[in-house]
Amino acid sequence: MADPFTLPPLPYDQKALEPVISSNTLGFHYGKHHQAYVTNLNKLVQGSEFESMGLEDVIRKSHGKNAGIFNNAAQIWNHTFYWHSLKAGGSQPGGKLKEAIEAFGGLEKLKADFAEAAKTQFGSGWAWIAARGGKLEVLKTGNAETPLVGGATALLTIDVWEHAYYLDYQNRRPDYVSAVIDKLLNWDFAAENLAKAK
Ligand code: MN
Repeated sequence: MADPFTLPPLPYDQKALEPVISSNTLGFHYGKHHQAYVTNLNKLVQGSEFESMGLEDVIRKSHGKNAGIFNNAAQIWNHTFYWHSLKAGGSQPGGKLKEAIEAFGGLEKLKADFAEAAKTQFGSGWAWIAARGGKLEVLKTGNAETPLVGGATALLTIDVWEHAYYLDYQNRRPDYVSAVIDKLLNWDFAAENLAKAK
């Protein structure tokens, strides 16, 4: 049987996010780390009930029950979501997203809270802007944990595993976080996700 899970394409060229995220970082992060989660998951699901499920079902149904399958499946989803959260030159929030940001306390507050979550996540993990019941919230999750199993709809994420920034920023996670938030956030992607939120 063919492998059930495949590495989704990057939505841009490997050099597209330079100089904030180098081609070298993206090459390892997408080509090695993201690929490894796909390779691992394909091995782990062989002959199991998870083999014929979609990725989001695998994530929801393995959470709290099968750590190996959950970690690899969630990391596939989280990374694909992260690539789409970034865009060369960034963008500006508009429409309903802009209204939700105003209700949150404004764009500067949202960016500041997002940066704080990303900088203070202890160890490996993710920072998120999410929506719940029409309201925005900022979250951080450890390791492979994802809002997909927490009842919130993810709008944007930043990967704060060291492999996301170490080649470019070494230990300076705050510099990586600030540069991504100032220059790369794809608010059009956030708006699309908000439109799908319940
Ligand atoms: Mn990563």
